Amino acid sequence: MMSKIAVIPGDGIGKEVAPEGAKLLEQLSSARGLGLELEFFDYGADRYLKDGTTLPPEQLEAFRRDYRAILFGAVGDPRVPDSRHAREILLALRFQLDLYVNLRPVRLLADRFSPLVGKGRKEIDGVFFRENTEGVYVDVGGNFKQGTADEIAITEDVNSRKGVERICRAALDWARKHGEKTVWMSDKSNAMRHAGGLWQRVWKELARDYPDLELRHMYVDVLAMQMVLRPELFRVVVTNNLFGDILTDLGAGISGGLGFSASANLNPGKIGLFEPVHGSAPDIVGTGKANPIATFLTCALLLEHLGHDAEARIVEKAVDLAVAENVLTPDVGGSRTTSEVSEFVRAQVARLA
Ligand code: ATP
Ligand code: MG
Repeated sequence: MMSKIAVIPGDGIGKEVAPEGAKLLEQLSSARGLGLELEFFDYGADRYLKDGTTLPPEQLEAFRRDYRAILFGAVGDPRVPDSRHAREILLALRFQLDLYVNLRPVRLLADRFSPLVGKGRKEIDGVFFRENTEGVYVDVGGNFKQGTADEIAITEDVNSRKGVERICRAALDWARKHGEKTVWMSDKSNAMRHAGGLWQRVWKELARDYPDLELRHMYVDVLAMQMVLRPELFRVVVTNNLFGDILTDLGAGISGGLGFSASANLNPGKIGLFEPVHGSAPDIVGTGKANPIATFLTCALLLEHLGHDAEARIVEKAVDLAVAENVLTPDVGGSRTTSEVSEFVRAQVARLA
């Protein structure tokens, strides 16, 4: 069976790292008979500046109908005011494909990448589930009496029962599949009573459906502190859009930064969008300094989404070898270029596959 994969490199270093990821997928596909069929799309700033195209609705429909995954680089370009094209492309994909799960691993590949290590080994190996379609990101609210001394700005935090339940279930199902025993839900229900109250009630109800798991809770301020003090506690965490944004940046900070951070945008069973957490990084475009590892780890998530778990492990193993031999870019203490790191990783994959 063929699996159609769309590759959208986008802008900036997205155009440098996404093609490296695509080569890795092609390589694994032919070595292991995975039947991946990759197709490149040129959506991004150049296309937008040329003819105004962001993401045509009929293409979005084709993605939904015929494709199983999108490998995405990054969008954002200083030539486009507020990177308008970027918001249109990413929001169209996220909302029209209803990708309600933002899954982000927080994993420390080697002690030397964490500012926390020094007082003994820290085990940092978790997966964060961030709600991706609701919360304060829905842009409901307004500025009243704007420009006066009495101005009031209101940003509504929108949480639906269906929305809360489905992201919690996604985390719990993932934990079950991966043999995890404990899942943390994090909110601020002591201060945000309405939204937090819903999360609390849903979480208690779900405990009945998952008697094999331990469903725990921690306020988000406490969890932020504990991620620094006892990161080994958090192997699976589920939270809302805003808290997930903040906690996963904290997670990136304690585990080596953006060059290693991968993410998946999912609606389980449907097409998924896979992207490194970093943006287009215009400051390092063309220097060979873009770290491709975040993209490779993103490819591992993509492979897992397609059910190719063994191949996902091969990619992770190849990355571990690059880390062990310090074949890395300068952002994580190495002195190699994007293509040197990429070639090394693919050579390891060739050996392991
Ligand atoms: P965007 O507007 O698209 O989000 P940005 O300028 O905010 O782009 P980010 O990707 O968010 O860029 O990253 C911030 C900085 O971190 C970059 O400017 C870059 O210096 C560094 N950085 C990000 N990703 C990488 C990477 N993969 N390899 C090396 N350095 C990176
Ligand atoms: Mg950015």
